[in-house]
Amino acid sequence: MHLVMIGGSDAGISAALRAGELDPSADVTVVVADAYPNFSICGIPYYVSGEVTHWRSLAHRTVADLEATGMALRLDTKARRIDVPGRKLQLAGPGGEEELVSYDKLVIGTGAVPVQPPIIGLTGPDALGPDDGVHLLHTMGDTFAVMRTLEEASPARAIIVGAGYVGLEMADALVARGVAVTQMEQLPEVLATVDQELGALVHAELASQGVEVLTGTTARQISRAGSTGQGRLRVIADTASGEAVQRTADMILIVTGVRPDTELAAAAGARLGVRGAIQVDPAMQTGLPDVLAAGDCVITHHRLLGETYLPLGTTAHKQGRIAGENALGASRHFAGSLGTQVVKIFDQAAARTGLRHDEAMAAGFVPITVQSAADDHKAYYPGSHRITMRVTGDRRTGRLLGMQLFGHKHAEIAKRIDIAATAIYNGMTVEAISDLDLSYTPPLGSPWEAVQMGAQAWNREVTLPNL
Ligand SMILES: Cc1cc2nc3c(=O)[nH]c(=O)nc-3n(C[C@H](O)[C@H](O)[C@H](O)COP(=O)(O)OP(=O)(O)OC[C@H]3O[C@@H](n4cnc5c(N)ncnc54)[C@H](O)[C@@H]3O)c2cc1C
Repeated sequence: MHLVMIGGSDAGISAALRAGELDPSADVTVVVADAYPNFSICGIPYYVSGEVTHWRSLAHRTVADLEATGMALRLDTKARRIDVPGRKLQLAGPGGEEELVSYDKLVIGTGAVPVQPPIIGLTGPDALGPDDGVHLLHTMGDTFAVMRTLEEASPARAIIVGAGYVGLEMADALVARGVAVTQMEQLPEVLATVDQELGALVHAELASQGVEVLTGTTARQISRAGSTGQGRLRVIADTASGEAVQRTADMILIVTGVRPDTELAAAAGARLGVRGAIQVDPAMQTGLPDVLAAGDCVITHHRLLGETYLPLGTTAHKQGRIAGENALGASRHFAGSLGTQVVKIFDQAAARTGLRHDEAMAAGFVPITVQSAADDHKAYYPGSHRITMRVTGDRRTGRLLGMQLFGHKHAEIAKRIDIAATAIYNGMTVEAISDLDLSYTPPLGSPWEAVQMGAQAWNREVTLPNL
């Protein structure tokens, strides 16, 4: 049994590890376009900030660790073409040499690539790139290019185009390095994955840390500013009301999201779905014989929304693991995502799970969202912090649909959102959250856990129909 995984990040490696674990006799090959298998790209901002001192520390496992599990790694090797009927994969090795490899089962984990927004100067023959201090950020190669700019050009100012979670993490990282940051976001508020009310709190945290935040501002053009010294780059943007905005900087980071990398799969005949991602069933089967796919290149089944595109590391790990099992003949199903996410922004953290108010409405629920606040632990014990909560429940059924939290980075925001994620996963009502037997000691919590207080605030405001 020869299993071949294309891609050496979360999905491909998870598939390979799981297959090797279940059947140590399986012959597992992982084909990786670069030399950095199993690197935590989620950790890139913390290497850029200097908190992680060596890039090698970002490896979940070293090449030797991976090979010790029995898998064969083909690094700096690109999968070029899949011959589905012949069950063969055409590879181009480090020197460009071509090779045909046979497989019994193939797992595609080609992931995602950064979106290149339509900004003049970013594409085309005279496009500005990493050597000019203009960067996209997704791979370890991109990271090394960013670090070269930081070390060689010592930028005093940077412009970050995009204020999604990666853009925010990078603002944090660059400020930690002493770089003055302007953040441009075309949407009306930063971090569009939470309701604007919480986005406004994130905005305030950025501003309090000295980041210039320009929301409702769309970057249109990047160019050289005419000198080779500080302020060598210019961004021209416009606001929602049509006003022109200009900023100069020594470095520009374009972080406006990702799109699935599906060229290889599509050329092999795989069907594409939401946002052009590879259509897979819950068993991660593509519909092409003996070809599975997982991670950022595939559609994601959402437990409340059905098919979505939700590129996240946690999801890629789970889907990869399932693809690895099923490649060996199992019939495991991906149970679905809730889009649970958390991000640290300087001293604060923001998290969400399930649906935002608008998403719930668009999905046909009758959502009511109630905002409230509670302490992370008893206020009489030193160091307590307020947590702002937004609880979204369905007016018709009382079911919990979503929760969003914002509070200090030491207020256990991540683990608290996981209570809500577990509740939504299990179809609980908002009211039933109060019945959960959760832990308490004054330095770490309250008799009513903050999330339970958020649920009770929702129940106070909402009169449910007699069910
Ligand atoms: C800065 C940053 C921070 C992030 N933070 C978080 C976070 O905090 N939490 C979270 O859940 N997610 C986070 N993510 C998202 C997360 O990293 C991705 O969802 C995850 O890496 C997806 O894994 P993947 O294996 O599907 O794809 P990718 O990581 O995109 O990897 C694709 C792999 O395929 C290889 N490949 C592509 N084409 C070929 C080919 N033709 N031949 C051979 N190899 C090929 C690539 O070299 C790579 O190894 C972050 C992402 C970034 C960039």
